[in-house]
Amino acid sequence: MTVRRAYDDQSAPLTPVPGCAVCDDLVSLRDEARTRRDGSAETDANVLLRRHQRQERAHEVPPPT
Ligand SMILES: [Zn+2]
Repeated sequence: MTVRRAYDDQSAPLTPVPGCAVCDDLVSLRDEARTRRDGSAETDANVLLRRHQRQERAHEVPPPT
């Protein structure tokens, strides 16, 4: 049997990486969707955020300040 990875768990909490504009954007989208009870938009944002964080190199280089 395979162990389910955390990032495949729909209920896994996704936290933005500090200083990452992409994480920031996606979390904002998700929060907005949640506020207006738009479940599909919230799911979309979660999928995008999960996909973004799954990329190993996504957070290797800190964004310029
Ligand atoms: Zn990020």
